[in-house]
Amino acid sequence: MSASNNAQITPYISREQIALRIQEMAKKINADYTGQEIVALCTLKGSVLFFADIVRELKIPLRFEFLGTSSYGHGTTSSGEVKVTLDLNSPISDQHVIVFEDIVDSGLTLSFVLDYLRARKPASIKTATLLFKPTALKKPIKPDYVGFEIPNDFVIGYGMDYAEKYREMPYIGVLKP
Ligand code: 5GP
Repeated sequence: MSASNNAQITPYISREQIALRIQEMAKKINADYTGQEIVALCTLKGSVLFFADIVRELKIPLRFEFLGTSSYGHGTTSSGEVKVTLDLNSPISDQHVIVFEDIVDSGLTLSFVLDYLRARKPASIKTATLLFKPTALKKPIKPDYVGFEIPNDFVIGYGMDYAEKYREMPYIGVLKP
């Protein structure tokens, strides 16, 4: 597939591979949280498709929360600055929270999100990320549930953007300028 501005998209993880892996992740979460209720927290915007697909596989009682964060401008490297663009709309105190992330790269966003949520005194917090770039990590964090460990490439699709484009792609590709 060819993108605008002469960028080239190479297919990387197919819809079928994503769907299968999400079923496996959900199975593990269902087993770990049997008998408990959770707050399923989706970070915006990149995690929307992952969140929509994984919650449909969860068999535990849950409610949705959304937290908008932004760390990247219009480039492919982290600005290092994370800001909240949309806040939670209900308390999470004394509740079990699972944060669903599209991708953990430097870990700056997840680390910020965890500090932000811990200040709201949940009973517990775990993190589930579809993609994890272990070699890019700059913070000592380890997601509890990981879909795929990937190398340090810039990926797009399945919720993830480049300058707000490509989020709607149903599979994950690597963008080469
Ligand atoms: P981190 O703070 O861990 O460096 O990055 C987290 C956020 O940056 C992700 O939620 C995502 O929005 C964005 N990001 C990190 N790596 C990539 C990537 O390879 N592709 C895209 N499209 N976004 C990324």
